[in-house]
Amino acid sequence: QEELNHFRNVQRISVTGKRVADPIRTFDELGEKYKVPDKLVENLAVCGYPLPTPIQMQAVPIMLQGRSLMACAPTGSGKTVAFLLPVLRDLKGPQRKGFRAMILAPTRELAQQIYRECLRLSEKTGLKIHLINKVSQAEQKFGEKSSKKYDILVSTPNRICYLLSRDPPVLDFSQIEWFIVDEADKLMEEGANSFKEQFDQILGACTSSSRKVALFSATYTVPVAKWAIRNLKGLVRVTVGERNA
Ligand code: ADP
Ligand code: ADP
Ligand code: MG
Repeated sequence: QEELNHFRNVQRISVTGKRVADPIRTFDELGEKYKVPDKLVENLAVCGYPLPTPIQMQAVPIMLQGRSLMACAPTGSGKTVAFLLPVLRDLKGPQRKGFRAMILAPTRELAQQIYRECLRLSEKTGLKIHLINKVSQAEQKFGEKSSKKYDILVSTPNRICYLLSRDPPVLDFSQIEWFIVDEADKLMEEGANSFKEQFDQILGACTSSSRKVALFSATYTVPVAKWAIRNLKGLVRVTVGERNA
């Protein structure tokens, strides 16, 4: 326990929550302890990621425990891999059940980047990832059965809300197990037509009882923390570096 506390201190990781998983120190541990398939671990090496960054050390095992998470770590600290890796492990392979994970980003550029990283990390898993580029294309693609072939959705919120509000809705989120919000501090800003309203609408469509939510951001903000504490069962909070808000 003392060694564990020391390790977290050195990595500047602080955790809040009950029975929080130990941080991993190498990606190789993921195979033994968390049954992460070899090909995922190999993909990390191919991407040029020899060792986990602090946020990856702590966020990945927490998400692999199946816990909802609020994670804060500085810009450039590897948050994208921290949420993609556990999602890719959890979904295993394609199942044709429709979207089982959704990643929300506040800008198109960011959604694009996440999508590209997801393609690289999911190489050889067979998982199908979709980025909503054009609403019109999405409407054709997801009509009735065809969206069943996709496993992961990456998008900005506005398009999703539009597609959900169609009659009949173009997207089915009833199978969503992981709802990931990147740059969650931006998505939680309140106000009319704000991201927060859209966020609520999207979350409301994720009706599965096994749905987990993971919120990632560069800074710790009180609105996000309050929302997470109030709404997420079994929440763990992780901060790397200063809790600067
Ligand atoms: P953040 O979202 O925290 O700002 P990113 O996920 O965009 O950070 O990652 C920043 C950079 O670090 C990217 O270029 C990414 O490829 C790289 N990176 C991510 N994880 C690792 C790792 N374990 N080792 C080395 N580089 C990494
Ligand atoms: P872009 O966002 O670049 O305009 P999209 O393909 O995403 O392209 O959107 C195409 C069209 O879908 C929009 O011009 C608009 O008519 C409709 N649309 C998208 N989002 C919404 C929304 N939130 N409410 C109403 N209509 C929308
Ligand atoms: Mg990021």
